Amino acid sequence: MKADRCPSEVKLIAVTKTVGIEAVAEVARCGLRLFGESRVQEACAKIEQFGPIQEREGYLGVEWHLIGHLQTNKAKLAVRLFDLIHSVDSITLAEELDRQASKAGKVQKILVQAKLAEEDTKHGIKENELKPLIGRINGLKNLELRGLMAIPPYSDNPEDARGYFKKLYLLRESLRNDGFLLPELSMGMSHDFEVAIQEGATMVRVGTAIFGEREQAIAR
Ligand SMILES: *Cc1c(COP(=O)(O)O)cnc(C)c1O
Repeated sequence: MKADRCPSEVKLIAVTKTVGIEAVAEVARCGLRLFGESRVQEACAKIEQFGPIQEREGYLGVEWHLIGHLQTNKAKLAVRLFDLIHSVDSITLAEELDRQASKAGKVQKILVQAKLAEEDTKHGIKENELKPLIGRINGLKNLELRGLMAIPPYSDNPEDARGYFKKLYLLRESLRNDGFLLPELSMGMSHDFEVAIQEGATMVRVGTAIFGEREQAIAR
């Protein structure tokens, strides 16, 4: 099924968690510029390793995105490393990021991660707390809120994710009616990015479909 979307509207984020630097360099040579990592520590090592390659091969426009949960005590390092943090889900974290960004003289771009299903294991702000959080983030001078992110409950059938993607889209529409801009919708992974694009994703986070299966354990 086609999505009737313009390709330039959808950014591909290559999820490089657990992937070695050689493979990252290889996809960079193929033209990918946006990389997503789940863990601050792992990203830190990788970004350091990638620096010399980037310089040698002259890549412009490389961005590193944090797509995994962020602990408040890693906010400082995250602000140093990431162009966009997809996983802001509490005012405590937002305020700490704002404080660290201010100290670093940076305006940190963020997305707010919404939790669309009742799952104990997943991070994200509950639907009914989304608007108050966004209202408060809006008052933080060193954060630039760019949009919303979500991870639907896993299902082998990508069609099962469609309802969740629609929901995120509609939440964004409702927030837009309240005057928040929110241009980005980060949704869709290897097994369901096509559905996500049909439902309005502007960023898809794809690991396995680019790099192959990861070792288990660290996967999600
Ligand atoms: C690992 C991960 C992805 C990529 O998953 P694949 O199924 O390998 O495409 C996307 N988003 C988040 C938040 C992840 O942790």
